[in-house]
Amino acid sequence: MIFNVDKETLPRDELAALQLTRLKNQCERVYANVPFYRKAFDDMGIKPGIVNSLEDLPRLPFTEKQDLRNGYPYKMFAVPIDTIVRLHASSGTTGKSTVVGYTKRDLDNWAELMARSLSAAGLSSSDFIHNAYGYGLFTGGLGVHYGAERLGATVIPISGGGSKRQAELLRDFGATGMTCTPSYALYLYEVAYDMGIDIRELPLRVGVFGAEPWTEEMRAEIERKLGITALNIYGLSEIMGPGVAQECAESKCGMHIFEDHFLPEIIDPVTGASLPPGAVGELVITTLTKEAIPLIRYRTRDLCSLDLTPCVCGRTHARITRILGRSDDMLIIRGVNVFPQQIEAILVEMEGISPHYEIEVKREGTLDALEIMVEFSEAMFQSDEIRHIQKREKSLQKSIKDYLGVTAKVRLVEPQSLKRFEGKASRVRDLRKKE
Ligand code: ADP
Ligand code: ZN
Repeated sequence: MIFNVDKETLPRDELAALQLTRLKNQCERVYANVPFYRKAFDDMGIKPGIVNSLEDLPRLPFTEKQDLRNGYPYKMFAVPIDTIVRLHASSGTTGKSTVVGYTKRDLDNWAELMARSLSAAGLSSSDFIHNAYGYGLFTGGLGVHYGAERLGATVIPISGGGSKRQAELLRDFGATGMTCTPSYALYLYEVAYDMGIDIRELPLRVGVFGAEPWTEEMRAEIERKLGITALNIYGLSEIMGPGVAQECAESKCGMHIFEDHFLPEIIDPVTGASLPPGAVGELVITTLTKEAIPLIRYRTRDLCSLDLTPCVCGRTHARITRILGRSDDMLIIRGVNVFPQQIEAILVEMEGISPHYEIEVKREGTLDALEIMVEFSEAMFQSDEIRHIQKREKSLQKSIKDYLGVTAKVRLVEPQSLKRFEGKASRVRDLRKKE
């Protein structure tokens, strides 16, 4: 179901006209109200009036995460502090967290976009949504919460943690929808399984998963184990929180970015040059309606490409492809660029292997050494396949070498022996950084 038919199916020329009006307005507002932008525009010798068409976008300055950190806590706000009705902060996955604020209207828009997202995932007012994103400063919990309420669904604000209780309530309350990180969905499956609860047999039918990168292979694994449809949701606190982009249940191929509120671009992360649809690069977003912290050309550091082909669902908004990783997650191993998701995709494909893994990079002498620990599955543990462990390790090493061009040492470890995550998974330890 399309939650806001008017806006989500707007013909592209009308959408562009709306975006231009809103972009002009945002430029005027940031120039008048945010010293950081006044200086950035002045330094480039431009005025907000420079924008006459969407093609002028690349003439505007970028905003980086560091700019928000420098403005800690409130310097990037474009409204008087007493009009702010809520604060959140990013998870701080890559450093000091950034603080974001919302006006009443910002919260209203967020609830609508989150409702659009849940609706695109196939959920409606008759669904019960088990919301296992953390409540608190992290945007996941409350973001989904108000969206679910806006949709008219019944939200179960379980938050993160307490997995045994989660499994019990998932069974007792009969949730039909679930929201959390993809890694937590798999973890919860294991916890439930050990308690004798088979999630496949519960009414749960849709999962909306995001906040961390995952792969198609991981989707298949989640869908098979939990017996649900698993869809991808994208967002970041600097731009809003969850609900910036959402995969539709019809195509399950790329996430519609809500273009009446966000203007996406893809750039070359090194040169900053604009890239055409289809090319992989860094996602840059300009907010079009944000009141509290409007951002011009915010560099998300998330790598993906833009898909402008029409979608079977009827939405006209562009899609971003699955996030391949953060530009700062990229590991350079003996000169080869490797993303953890590429490794994950290879691991998950092999039978007898679970999707729980850890990657460690260290320096041995002058060379980088990559070691991957991955759990074998319970089934393999119980069969006599276990005798063939070394063969499996070798075969994984070969696949990694063949596909990624790097030499890795693979170690298969016992089921349940690696760390589990209730929030965002953190699977890479780069020990070179401490040197
Ligand atoms: P932090 O940057 O501290 O993790 P946030 O909590 O705001 O802050 O998380 C936003 C980030 O989470 C995004 O920039 C992106 O890297 C990641 N993310 C969110 N949703 C997805 C998704 N569906 N796929 C991959 N990564 C995602
Ligand atoms: Zn669609």
